[in-house]
Amino acid sequence: MSFINDFLSLIFPRNCEACLDVLYKHEQFMCNKCLINLPNSVNQHKSKINLIFAGRIPVKNTFCLYVFLKDGKVQKLLHSIKYQEQNELAEFIGNQFALKFKNDLNDLDCIIPIPLHAKKLKQRGFNQSEIFAKGISKQSNLPIISNNLIRETNTRTQTKKRKYERWQNVEGVFSLTNPNELINKHVLLVDDVITTGATIEAAWQHLKAVEGIKITIGSIAYAAKT
Ligand SMILES: [Zn+2]
Repeated sequence: MSFINDFLSLIFPRNCEACLDVLYKHEQFMCNKCLINLPNSVNQHKSKINLIFAGRIPVKNTFCLYVFLKDGKVQKLLHSIKYQEQNELAEFIGNQFALKFKNDLNDLDCIIPIPLHAKKLKQRGFNQSEIFAKGISKQSNLPIISNNLIRETNTRTQTKKRKYERWQNVEGVFSLTNPNELINKHVLLVDDVITTGATIEAAWQHLKAVEGIKITIGSIAYAAKT
């Protein structure tokens, strides 16, 4: 079988999803160099990452696996996940996330992926944050709750709304189908990329009403401003 695999990789070389180098046969999705080097850039941005939600959401922690720089390797990864339906890659990255933050995840009860608008979900056919969450779940055994926090497309006209509602409409309107399920739970809220944190903040407007809820944020990447 090894002979066949060698032969196949000669004809159909697989490439690293981040740097495009040809993969060795024992490598999956990403080359070892990228696996080791990409997360290191997060350390330089740790203080900025910690500040994203300061004064807005009382987060317990914020964990981002990679830093997204324009035209960089992480952008390539995210593009593959979002537009090329690389679901196995998204799950693999979820695995990497759970391995890297293994000790920090002990205190958590469940994972909630940020949902897509129903319309967008229909267009794309999958929610990349949910598949990323699946990878985290498989590695950490934390259950995923994906039918509680939902996101609605708001069709009411912008002009009739008050300022807060208008702001909220930018990220869509979230709601909880079963708030009681989350009482006293420490939730890992996951999104693919964190930029301004506005989406998470919009979701928090609903989650914060749940008694005793605690939030930790997880994402594939933090989009650093350059
Ligand atoms: Zn690579």
